[in-house]
Amino acid sequence: MSLASLKLNPRADARIRAGHMWIYSNEVDTKVTPLKAFESGQQVQVHAADGRSMGVAIVSPGSLICARIISRSDKQLLNRKLLKQRLQSALALREQHYDDASYRLCFGDSDGLPGLVVDRFSETVVIQISNPAMEALRQDIIEVLDAMLMPRTIVLKNDGKMRPVEGLDIYVEVVKGELNDGFASFIENGVKFEAPVLEGQKTGWFYDHRDSRARLANYVEGKRVLDVFSYIGGWGIQAAAFGASEVVCLDSSEFALECVARNAVLNGLDERVFTIQADAFAGLKALADQKEKFDVVVLDPPALIARRKDIKVGEKAYQKLNQLALRLVEVGGTLVTASCSMHLDRDRLVNIVQSGARQVDRTVQVIEQGHQAIDHPIHPAIAETEYIKCLFTRVLKSW
Ligand code: SAH
Repeated sequence: MSLASLKLNPRADARIRAGHMWIYSNEVDTKVTPLKAFESGQQVQVHAADGRSMGVAIVSPGSLICARIISRSDKQLLNRKLLKQRLQSALALREQHYDDASYRLCFGDSDGLPGLVVDRFSETVVIQISNPAMEALRQDIIEVLDAMLMPRTIVLKNDGKMRPVEGLDIYVEVVKGELNDGFASFIENGVKFEAPVLEGQKTGWFYDHRDSRARLANYVEGKRVLDVFSYIGGWGIQAAAFGASEVVCLDSSEFALECVARNAVLNGLDERVFTIQADAFAGLKALADQKEKFDVVVLDPPALIARRKDIKVGEKAYQKLNQLALRLVEVGGTLVTASCSMHLDRDRLVNIVQSGARQVDRTVQVIEQGHQAIDHPIHPAIAETEYIKCLFTRVLKSW
């Protein structure tokens, strides 16, 4: 089958040759191959300005990232067979590392399947599709996953922010089986959870901090813990399960906190887990005004820097939050501070904690650094696939 050609501008091929998989709209020779001429999700053969083939890509004509390379071979199209191969390869990695069937099974570009995220919650599989080529393969994705994993339930959680930009509609659909009032049961680090896969954020859960949450066990026994931006209690419930004497989960969402309570009951921890519904900035300030102290504060906010142009404002927000959180940490205690903003470097987060500590007259030691878990592999040529930062810091009286 011969594919339409997408021609790059002179020199635009260097980055692709070096390993990147994305083509930006300003890199296309639109005089020769106007993007408007392509259909959304169409597969094309990419050619460098000198005519050399760069492989097969899927096109999103209206997006800044207007094409994504699927394969460097001219013959390898994105189809059911390739989907199956790459999902099997993704599964092999997870099975090698995890005993429980609870993990991100497919992490988009990093697993060679741009626009496809699959989270597995034991018997429930949640699929998120974010580009038109993957949407066209929707039925194949469902069937391949069904045959591979034989889950009880499959959900399409197609409500991501990028969908309208890609010309896709927003919908959430249970395509196989059913859910217990919208929740999926699974296990993380030996702790039981139920995630709201229909109404929750993203797929319902954030597996990316699994390894760092496991590290909590060394810090929380017999301690008083505050989990800020708790969502459904990823950190807080695990802290309680690992022996914390009291855990307070703070979030602005009433629904998220109802899920915290549900997960506390599920683990028999409801007498030690409490919730505060508040905006994090106001809530942290109120706790400080009340002279509350915690042995461990976990600060794991949503991405506060969504785009490059938000860096300044976003860094200020991280600064403010870390400073507020540090005020609440008992001397000798721990601040676990995280960022999932791709635009905030690890070094910058270290600076933010350091300057926050100066402002509240404390000395901090960075004692551990957490990364995204194995089920979120990094594509070494696509910096955007590395996004999780987590610092465990010990908070001391000023030296
Ligand atoms: N720490 C969580 C993930 C955070 S998701 C985990 O490990 O699973 C982001 C959470 O922040 C959501 O639950 C959202 O309701 C909450 N949130 C967003 N803005 C907030 C704000 N200004 N104050 C408090 N919570 C906020």
